[in-house]
Amino acid sequence: MEGGCTCGHVRYRLNGRPMIVHACHCTWCQRETGTVHALNAMYEADRVEHLAAEPEIIVTPSASGKGQRIARCPICKVAVWSNYPGSGPAVRFVRVGTMDDPSQCPPDVHIFTSTKQPWVTLPPGARAVAEFYDIDEVWSEEAKERRRIMREKAKK
Ligand SMILES: [Zn+2]
Repeated sequence: MEGGCTCGHVRYRLNGRPMIVHACHCTWCQRETGTVHALNAMYEADRVEHLAAEPEIIVTPSASGKGQRIARCPICKVAVWSNYPGSGPAVRFVRVGTMDDPSQCPPDVHIFTSTKQPWVTLPPGARAVAEFYDIDEVWSEEAKERRRIMREKAKK
């Protein structure tokens, strides 16, 4: 899968499927996206390959107080992915709306639905949690294995 910013200066290729896709309904994501939820596909950093320019990293205040690092096109400033302090630089949260075909990455789980806008109706059977969840319960076995390998690499 490929994607990029609006002006085409930043283009990326994603190697394989995401570990998981989050629809985050927290108020921080609402403000940052200007809409009702963020849609982030989680990838190991080395599976997100930049094909043209490198994005610039903008440190943006986050709910934790530690700051989120947002990768933006240096020209049109569209955000293509982020690092969150919890998982560090090893994980890139790719903004699904910047993919050439966002329909490839529907959400696996809706998070922070405690602050979901009341007029947003989730599909019947959608996995949803009021705040966050336990990775062991929600992630696929394959994704958990990829996470384990990623954490091993990060230690080196
Ligand atoms: Zn651009």
